[in-house]
Amino acid sequence: MMKVLELKGVTKKYGGFTAVDAVSLEIEQGKVLSLLGPSGCGKTTTLRIIAGFTSPDSGSVEISGEDVGQLRPYERNVGLLFQDYALFPHMTVDQNVAYGMRYRGTPVSAVASRVKQMLSLVQLGGMENRYPNQLSGGQQQRVALARALATDPQIVLLDEPLSALDAKLRLELRIELKEILRSVGATTIVVTHDQEEALSLGDEVVVMHAGTVVQRGTPTQIYEAPASKFVAEFVGRSNWFYGARPRRSDSGMSSYLTGDGVEICARSGQEGSSADLCIRPENIELVNGSAREPVDYPGHNVLLGVVLDVAPLGADVHVVIELPGKSRLLAIRKNVGRSQALLPGEPVRAVFSMSDVLVF
Ligand code: ATP
Repeated sequence: MMKVLELKGVTKKYGGFTAVDAVSLEIEQGKVLSLLGPSGCGKTTTLRIIAGFTSPDSGSVEISGEDVGQLRPYERNVGLLFQDYALFPHMTVDQNVAYGMRYRGTPVSAVASRVKQMLSLVQLGGMENRYPNQLSGGQQQRVALARALATDPQIVLLDEPLSALDAKLRLELRIELKEILRSVGATTIVVTHDQEEALSLGDEVVVMHAGTVVQRGTPTQIYEAPASKFVAEFVGRSNWFYGARPRRSDSGMSSYLTGDGVEICARSGQEGSSADLCIRPENIELVNGSAREPVDYPGHNVLLGVVLDVAPLGADVHVVIELPGKSRLLAIRKNVGRSQALLPGEPVRAVFSMSDVLVF
């Protein structure tokens, strides 16, 4: 596959502070890459360097094999949707979408048909003559997307494209955005601090922390096999037992004792040292404690607890249970109806596979 973009050892410092630290990154034709990380980790700066708004202190940016370090943003053939690059308020929808093409001297008739095509792509046909302030937030975002895609750029850079929208619209537009990007085959980098957005939009996800790339992988890899404690904490919900002490080990598995006196079996970590254990809430099965006699669950941990709180959240039910020693465990189960409902105060067994425990 052809590399459309390649960053090699890109570093950017502000005074003594390193915002982007030797980042190397590449993206293949037609792929969508999510850049995910907490506020201040350097996502936007990385995107601005690719766009040409910020010059790196060292390292290089290549687009289709060409070093673009000396090129101005408008010479780089990138489509932009940036927070500080709003729609032009004095221009109609039509004019906003046409802007990049006009700038490049595209013939008028070609511009008109491309604008029409773009507006139908983002489902805004009929709104050509409105001004941005006559549009809803979601419609404005769609115009901005149409503008970013209109010049058929080699790379599309989207910085928090959905952040200005309320939760419901955000979800709708996210699905739409994904379809649009796939349908035009746009090679895209999308920056977000929202993990759900990153995992759902990206073919691959790059997790950044303190200016560096800490993991790159498919959404499934990032979620199921986080490379570090930071990634596991940042992506997805988790139950954590920090500083658990290994006691017995046998064929790659250890029994750990947590600070609260809970015993958990999981794969062995580094010899002798304490470990941080992470259990995803959807990997925990809850078995009504009084309903059955103790049964053996080979390869599983079975923790006895008491239901503390039950929160039905639509399709899922979030159940918090309290274990002996007062530690708590969140389990997420599908909402299967009243018959299997758990009640606060009930004894319960939390059952989870030893191999589902992440050890750091
Ligand atoms: P957010 O999600 O909040 O936008 P981010 O990951 O995109 O965060 P950046 O905007 O890339 O983060 O900023 C990275 C770091 O560099 C931050 O600590 C920020 O304060 C700093 N920074 C960014 N631009 C400048 C600047 N022009 N001058 C000084 N410091 C800057």
